[in-house]
Amino acid sequence: MIDVISIFTPEYKSKTYMVVDKDSKSTIIIDPTIFSVTEISNFLLNNNISLDYVIPTHGHFDHIEGISKLQELYGFDVLANSECCEAFLNPKKNYSAFFQNKNVRISLPNIIIDEDIYNLKWNNTEIQIIKTPGHSPCSVCIVFNNLFLFSGDTILQEYSPFSKFPDGDAELLKTSIKRVFSIFPPSTLVYPGHGVEFHLGLINLKFKFLK
Ligand SMILES: [Zn+2]
Repeated sequence: MIDVISIFTPEYKSKTYMVVDKDSKSTIIIDPTIFSVTEISNFLLNNNISLDYVIPTHGHFDHIEGISKLQELYGFDVLANSECCEAFLNPKKNYSAFFQNKNVRISLPNIIIDEDIYNLKWNNTEIQIIKTPGHSPCSVCIVFNNLFLFSGDTILQEYSPFSKFPDGDAELLKTSIKRVFSIFPPSTLVYPGHGVEFHLGLINLKFKFLK
């Protein structure tokens, strides 16, 4: 039985997610902000749950900043593709240098994935990590059991597709969004990097280029 717990960070209006496997008492964290770490730690401690993986949806600082603090507290694997590595190491590439001079630096992921679609078996759960570049070069969508999709900043309900960062690419983003809609059914529940969750089929009219 999989549970999704969302943690809101008002400073960035962003979401951190804990995917909890109640049977194995383990969790995967997606996009930890520094502000989410206390709530994560309390949850793990109070429920006797272990942390297996952290998987960021991309390398922007508001999606990776909490990784270092979590690494001080727990042992776990960080999965990301090689396009993310520069953003992990360089505050100008993860844009933290331009946000209150935060200068976020994260050590390199210990599992670097380069497959277009990377399959991960986690207890009884099938996870797919799908490359969806455009918002950033290393953006991915993470799908659990073909039911829950963590879209990062690739597909958002409350915001338009955003590719205006220097390393963003509007055409690639369109292609990636089309790809997600072509693979997954309208009933897929999407947990975005910012805003509330929604069913994929509810927002297809938002993207004119899908027709
Ligand atoms: Zn972003």
